[in-house]
Amino acid sequence: MNVDVKTYQCPPGGLRERVVLITGASNGIGKALAIRAAELGAQVILHGRNSGKLEAVHDEIARSEGHCRPSIAVMDLATAGSEEYMSLAESVEQEFGRLDGLVHNAAMLGQRLSIEQYDAAEWQRVLHVNLTAPFALTQVLLPLLKRSGDPSIVFTSSGVGREGRAYWGAYSVSKFGIEALTQILAAETRHVPMRVNCVNPGPTRTELRLQAYPAEDRNASRPPGEVLSPYLFLLGPDSREVTGMSLDSQ
Ligand code: NDP
Repeated sequence: MNVDVKTYQCPPGGLRERVVLITGASNGIGKALAIRAAELGAQVILHGRNSGKLEAVHDEIARSEGHCRPSIAVMDLATAGSEEYMSLAESVEQEFGRLDGLVHNAAMLGQRLSIEQYDAAEWQRVLHVNLTAPFALTQVLLPLLKRSGDPSIVFTSSGVGREGRAYWGAYSVSKFGIEALTQILAAETRHVPMRVNCVNPGPTRTELRLQAYPAEDRNASRPPGEVLSPYLFLLGPDSREVTGMSLDSQ
């Protein structure tokens, strides 16, 4: 790969006519990515669990002239089951007939405790939201992705998805799982024109970061708008043939 993905600039209109679903688009990195992707011409589907927050992102995008009006998909990944996943896939099929990009961005941090102290129910919740839900959503959306001429799936990893560190518990395990899921699905789809990759955004000034490091200087991490380059690279045509990679934003 000859591109520096950390500084990659997607050309104006670079995502034109691409239908892109972003989970966790109500806040942080997902929200910033949704707004940027819409600026670059994408038809964005905003997923989240809070309709009020999603409507605010929707209005921010719809207010700008020339942007496609986004769609909204409300679903709590902690509680959704196969019916909700199917219903989301059916709505996307009815509205667009295909899906060009799927960004798994939503995640929860869970407890910052030792393995000895970690609550078992919380462990399951974190693994469900961060790993099982992306798996299930991917599975149900694969037929629509296969209808795209240039489909791309982007998972979100973390530094603790590559190196286990004390007190990161289920969050870290879920992100190791995401790295594995990326590699497995990329290997399984090598014979079809589909790319599957993951991105570690690195330290980013969001609510999740604040939860993880409450005492950290907020200026020590980058704002969400500054970590988007690898996501935009992977969603657009310049990343054709790039699959099975784990990329860093910073
Ligand atoms: P935020 O907390 O700002 O955003 C998380 C998003 O996920 C929100 O939209 C949130 O919804 C949504 N979400 C959480 N739980 C659920 C659920 N049960 N159902 C549906 N949606 C849910 O965090 P970030 O922007 O920082 O995180 C984005 C991604 O980046 C995550 O995958 C995270 O692991 C990863 N990451 C972040 C880093 C950082 O420093 N910030 C570093 C490395 C990785 P709501 O608005 O309703 O809370």
